[in-house]
Amino acid sequence: MALIIQKYGGTSVATVDHIQRVAIKVALTKDKGNQVVVVVSAMNGQTDQLLNMATEITANPSEREQDALVATGEQACAALLAIALESIGYKAKSFIGLQLPLVTDNVHTRARILDLPTAVLQQTINEDIIPVVAGFQGVTEDGSITTLGRGGSDTTAVSIAAALKADRCEIYTDVDGVYTADPNICPRSRHLEIISYLEMLELAGLGAKVLHARAVELAQKYQVPLVVRSSTGSERQTWIVNEEDLMENAIIKGVTLEKNVSKISLIRVLDRPGIAYKILSPLADAAINVDMIIQNASIDGFADFTFTIPTTDLDKASKLINEVASEIGALEVLADNNIVKVSAVGIGIKTNPGIAAHMFKSLSSENINIEMISTSEYRISCVIEEKYGELAVRAIHKTFNLDNSK
Ligand code: ASP
Ligand code: MG
Repeated sequence: MALIIQKYGGTSVATVDHIQRVAIKVALTKDKGNQVVVVVSAMNGQTDQLLNMATEITANPSEREQDALVATGEQACAALLAIALESIGYKAKSFIGLQLPLVTDNVHTRARILDLPTAVLQQTINEDIIPVVAGFQGVTEDGSITTLGRGGSDTTAVSIAAALKADRCEIYTDVDGVYTADPNICPRSRHLEIISYLEMLELAGLGAKVLHARAVELAQKYQVPLVVRSSTGSERQTWIVNEEDLMENAIIKGVTLEKNVSKISLIRVLDRPGIAYKILSPLADAAINVDMIIQNASIDGFADFTFTIPTTDLDKASKLINEVASEIGALEVLADNNIVKVSAVGIGIKTNPGIAAHMFKSLSSENINIEMISTSEYRISCVIEEKYGELAVRAIHKTFNLDNSK
């Protein structure tokens, strides 16, 4: 008997019909003698619909109330699935984050999990009742509802799998796994049957929407076997495993395009100790993720300082940076959301010199200008003008021989 955590994404529970089909899938897993815990997202589009209603009222709804609002999407879906399971003769109970409780920090809209006691779930399982957990949400120590960031239901599922020491965590979605590039952008992309946690983590962090990055991080940390499957019948799937378990290894595993990127430049700031800290610490305090950072060589003791952030944080960051800029006497602040980040990912990067040059060559042969570069052991990223994003993905995909020959 295995303990299996199954997570169903928004498209898998898009309508009542879909929810009934999911109930049958869960029931079949149970009938095979397994124990199952189900985690659900909100029905497709619900989270956006709820957020839109809030912004009809005000452009800046408080983050606390946004969380309280969107968490209801998962709550409704969990209850509907429990009802669907009951209607076909299975015992089920829905739970929201608050009831477990899944305790998080108080960073609303992107909270991190602090504690996940297993007593409630374990007891439910022991009573042979299927727990159906509302994903994406938690509760702070002082009782406010939080959410884990868009796509965060994956993280709920993996956390539960880790806490219960489940045999595996299955993520059901509308695609049958992970591809070498987004098939909508790159028609020649290939399906990957297996990929390492580290590569998947880079891909997820770079906007490959299949899995929430935090979910992959936790899966690796707690060694949760993780598999992505389609809930619409495809037999294909992608396993996410340890690096050592990969049989063959292509140097580059995938190419991503991240659109939620903007850059902010401070022009002519004093080139002095403590300046970078002064610029970036208000952003850190506001939990804004700064990604690439460049300070160019100083001329007459002044330099330009440029960094990238998610476009979704651009307004907030611009406000903070304008305050700092006048404090430190920068000449000007420039914000640009007309950029994207293309990246090549693969564990072969650290051991194969020349990979970066190879990637730059493919961009230059398409006449694409690189504005910023960053590299890590597993990734090379370039910031380029937005309009070249998709072309760049195809060029890099091809240059690393990832194109499907069929
Ligand atoms: N419903 C949330 C979202 O749309 C969380 C999730 O689907 O994982 O982002
Ligand atoms: Mg998702």
